[in-house]
Amino acid sequence: MIIFKSPEEIGRMRQAGRVVATTIDQLLAAVRPGLTTEDLDRLAEEFIRDQGAVPSFKGYRGFPGTICTSLNHEVVHGIPSPTRALIPGDVLKLDVGAVWDGYHADSAVSVFVAGAPSEEAEKLVRATEESLEAGIAALRSGARLSDVGHAVQQVAEGAGFSCVREYAGHGVGRALHEDPQVPNYGDPGRGPVVKPGLVVAIEPMVNVGTWRTRVLRDHWTVVTADGSLSAHFEHTIAVTEDGTEVLTARPAA
Ligand code: MG
Ligand code: MG
Repeated sequence: MIIFKSPEEIGRMRQAGRVVATTIDQLLAAVRPGLTTEDLDRLAEEFIRDQGAVPSFKGYRGFPGTICTSLNHEVVHGIPSPTRALIPGDVLKLDVGAVWDGYHADSAVSVFVAGAPSEEAEKLVRATEESLEAGIAALRSGARLSDVGHAVQQVAEGAGFSCVREYAGHGVGRALHEDPQVPNYGDPGRGPVVKPGLVVAIEPMVNVGTWRTRVLRDHWTVVTADGSLSAHFEHTIAVTEDGTEVLTARPAA
């Protein structure tokens, strides 16, 4: 069941979104070779709590970190580790969630760790971000929800890549994951009608090779089935009477 949000609830989610956006900006400024993913996790927890919010992911179904840190062929849900030091050329995915006054916001970025990324990595990351922008543009009052995934897929596959199918975007609110699911592929014109009060996280996960994935023995880290590179971007977006609002938009971006 989709829980539509009042303008007042969206106001609280805007605050949660601001915390997440600021935290991502602060993390991006900190990323450098030699830092471990656990160092980033510690910083993220500080940044979130300093803003009066609480990490959404910590303890979620037993997840041990404040954020997810996924490198290269890792798609999502990487666990921050004291033994994973960043190296130049790494493609790092940072996924951050925070809860403010009972409401969550969820956002992710892909970033290169110092040094020149490969041409393919650069193309992948750009296409993934563009696929998110296309998905956001398709989220309009009166549209159908599957228009979003269709738009994402058109851009990602148009660039020669594949969209992960086993994980999807989702509604966001008092719970981190609510209905509806927002897949990153599919035919347009299906699913619920988009209307004011809908708040969703759109989060394309795009691979160089196959869309298929598997989960490592840590029961969390999702990797591409063929070991190919993967990128991920995510925003939490509210549909309002005036259009849409990206609640996790970053001032510095
Ligand atoms: Mg996320
Ligand atoms: Mg999400």
